Amino acid sequence: MIELSDVHKSFGKVEVLKGITASVAKGEVVCIIGPSGSGKSTILRCINGLESYDRGAISVEGLRVDRDAPSIVSVRTQVSMVFQRFNLFPHRTALDNVIEGPLYVKKEPRAAALERGRALLAQVGLSDKADVHPPQLSGGQQQRVAIARALAMKPKAILFDEPTSALDPELVGDVLGVMRKLADDGMTMVVVTHEIGFAREVADRVLFIDGGVIVEEGSAKAVLNQPQHPRTQDFLRRVL
Ligand code: ATP
Ligand code: MG
Repeated sequence: MIELSDVHKSFGKVEVLKGITASVAKGEVVCIIGPSGSGKSTILRCINGLESYDRGAISVEGLRVDRDAPSIVSVRTQVSMVFQRFNLFPHRTALDNVIEGPLYVKKEPRAAALERGRALLAQVGLSDKADVHPPQLSGGQQQRVAIARALAMKPKAILFDEPTSALDPELVGDVLGVMRKLADDGMTMVVVTHEIGFAREVADRVLFIDGGVIVEEGSAKAVLNQPQHPRTQDFLRRVL
């Protein structure tokens, strides 16, 4: 469903992606781990066209991802993104945040968008928070609203960029629980995370990125329990 082939990306003179080749199949959960600055967020941002890339190719469902082509709108509706810092509109209710995309991007009728929005809030355990504004919600609740908002676009895949890194430890579990359920329901997911436990239990495949290259990849068991490369071993020793 998502294909990256020899993707290179530089910021100025610094090459941050040095030939990334990877693919994500429908229904697959791929976790990306790696040190700070290794290029994890840049990969996600290139996949949904938030960032351009210099060389190589990225496609989603056969559609080439080109930030400057009109088709990028279609790519972005098919691939939702959930960020570390929620990115909700603070002056709109949780429900209004969720229905924003369906209403204004997909031009869905308001009644239908509202009904689905309420169902999605229920799905993430927030049916009683529809009329609350984000600043009145905990970080974990805000992130679950952000996940409901991503789902509202009926995406074919969701990209998560460290969705629990900004949360107090006691709030992490609820968000990971929602993500786990999504994975069980067959959602295609790419998850940048430091939650090794989550990766071990939920990921079909793990990519370890360092210095803009995929150093090691394989099943969660192989990469996390029996890493072959010294850099993976060293990284896991430090985060576990
Ligand atoms: P972290 O774990 O800290 O989130 P990351 O693996 O997500 O790190 P990226 O955010 O992809 O890393 O950044 C990779 C490299 O590219 C870093 O050296 C970063 O400073 C640089 N970089 C990222 N975005 C930009 C930008 N817009 N302009 C210039 N340099 C950038
Ligand atoms: Mg990042």
